[in-house]
Amino acid sequence: MTTAQPRTDLDVQPTPLALLLLGREADPTSERGVDCPGDLPSPSDPDLVARARAAKEKLGDKVFVLGHHYQRDEVIQFADVTGDSFKLARDAAARPEAEYIVFCGVHFMAESADILTSDEQKVVLPDLAAGCSMADMATAEQVAECWDVLSEAGVADQVVPVAYMNSSADIKAFTGKHGGTICTSSNAKRALEWAFEQGQDPATTKILFLPDQHLGRNTAVRDLGMSLEDCVVYNPHKPNGGLTAEQLRDARMILWRGHCSVHGRFSLESVEDVRARVPGVNVLVHPECKHEVVAAADLVGSTEYIIKTLEAAPRGSKWAIGTELNLVQRLANRFAEEDKEIVFLDRTVCFCSTMNRIDLPHLVWTLESLAEGTLVNRIEVDKETEDFAKLALERMLALP
Ligand code: SF4
Repeated sequence: MTTAQPRTDLDVQPTPLALLLLGREADPTSERGVDCPGDLPSPSDPDLVARARAAKEKLGDKVFVLGHHYQRDEVIQFADVTGDSFKLARDAAARPEAEYIVFCGVHFMAESADILTSDEQKVVLPDLAAGCSMADMATAEQVAECWDVLSEAGVADQVVPVAYMNSSADIKAFTGKHGGTICTSSNAKRALEWAFEQGQDPATTKILFLPDQHLGRNTAVRDLGMSLEDCVVYNPHKPNGGLTAEQLRDARMILWRGHCSVHGRFSLESVEDVRARVPGVNVLVHPECKHEVVAAADLVGSTEYIIKTLEAAPRGSKWAIGTELNLVQRLANRFAEEDKEIVFLDRTVCFCSTMNRIDLPHLVWTLESLAEGTLVNRIEVDKETEDFAKLALERMLALP
């Protein structure tokens, strides 16, 4: 369980899809908090950049701003460091002099930073509505119920949970409590190999992979040579997950029915379409994409892998990238001078709408509040949850 202070009641009307895609407004069915508890500056205020700069300067070393790769440029310009969620959390822990960690990312990322930083450091999320649809697809209650189903099927003692970094602190704690580990999209293969070795008999050991079915399936099939038939999908909205006891006994990978709403949009048609549009293109996608997309791509890897691959790519090469649009646009601009053609894999807009909620007005409000001595939007994980989640994270750090 986490607390976010101050918290306001949910009190919004459903908003048009276009606004959600642009990262404005909020989806009241999936988010944790919506209204900003203070006076947000107007987005049209011409002094926003100067105000953010002044507040950050006033705070000096007391503040450390983390910028996830998928953030808007208007926010990224104020980040002291950029990266994926795990790298950012570790970077924050390495700056103990920073009392305030402003996490320009989403809720589960701020939780991870709070878990990994010292008690003296306070993690702040500029907009409490910045959740993650994937992380929200696995709640503590649903996962506890799933474990009961596995127990009733007589397989729980053969199951090792593996939770993707993109999960709530509660799910990380569940994983730690039940002998499992966390993984990132970079080390998922090693995490699965480790998990299979934990059971008494590796041949009968099963993995409960949370919450992203696609990363679990892609890693099992592409990297570990398993078959699609080795995988079953547990649907928390169906009785017994929609699975029979026999299906659970026969499975090697029990995949939680969760997905990323951004990466889940790419389709086999988008791969075929871009190959026809851009002759000679290399298709490079994130492993959160569907299995058929990953199978049709030329290369697959995490955001860090995507960036490194493009850095090493020869001049004149052409790339279609299947990940969040803010990052793809930034990479396309960065490498244009090197004559590397970088296009977005899909023809439609594909921002992470919740990530996009962290905008310049929220960042200005956050920095100015902190500079005035008012702590806002703190994300704090309770001690017991933190201890078990840390156990799972430490197992990940110890992976061979
Ligand atoms: S890109 Fe996907 S996994 Fe990442 S924060 Fe957005 S919804 Fe969550």
